[in-house]
Amino acid sequence: MKEIKGAILIISGPSGCGKSTLLKEIYKNIPNYYFSISTTTRDIRGEEEDGIDYHFVTIEEFEKNIEAGNFLEYARVHNNYYGTMLEPITKALNDGKLVVFDIDVQGHKILREKLGNLITSVFITTPTLKILEQRLVARDTDTKEIIEKRVESAKSEICEFLDYDYLIINDNIHKATKEILSIASIARAKTKLFDKNSIVKEWLNS
Ligand code: ADP
Ligand code: 5GP
Repeated sequence: MKEIKGAILIISGPSGCGKSTLLKEIYKNIPNYYFSISTTTRDIRGEEEDGIDYHFVTIEEFEKNIEAGNFLEYARVHNNYYGTMLEPITKALNDGKLVVFDIDVQGHKILREKLGNLITSVFITTPTLKILEQRLVARDTDTKEIIEKRVESAKSEICEFLDYDYLIINDNIHKATKEILSIASIARAKTKLFDKNSIVKEWLNS
């Protein structure tokens, strides 16, 4: 039976919960995906590369793109702008890809309103706030001040998890990997991705 469109997988969760670690497992194991590279005004971190992890831009550039209507969604997170450019997402969906987003709870809300039928979403967290803080400290990519800001944001982000289809508590990385891969594999089987009329017609006539 014919799949008519691409699908969307949204991953959210407090900074340090393990999103990037789990996303790498998706890229290794799931075919025909497209990772949405966000645009941000935050500083480049650790081993990140411009154009691969993010498009790093100035506040002026970001605001110009807002005015031009180039963003599918954008939000202010931890005092920086983050956003998704519309054009590459439209192309990837038209190409029938699984489009994977790592975006915050505000971005998830906006995309639900715009493209709800295509979305499968997962909220990832650590077993406790304390463990989140320990992971951010152990990751050693942010200053104490930035870590404090991220831990503060996490307290409100966790309250939004019921808006998501799935919750993964990333305690054991092997278990969390299995869970994310199961969800990513099934995202393309969402009924709303299929065109009812053509499927019923084909089913009746063949
Ligand atoms: P995020 O992308 O959500 O900010 P990361 O993937 O960078 O988070 O993970 C934060 C830190 O926690 C990294 O140093 C990562 O290696 C570590 N980490 C991820 N998952 C686990 C886990 N299940 N147990 C212990 N450490 C983990
Ligand atoms: P980080 O600075 O740790 O890479 O990301 C901080 C937060 O911004 C995370 O919650 C991440 O999911 C979110 N984020 C990254 N890109 C986007 C985006 O394009 N849009 C929105 N709304 N949030 C984003």
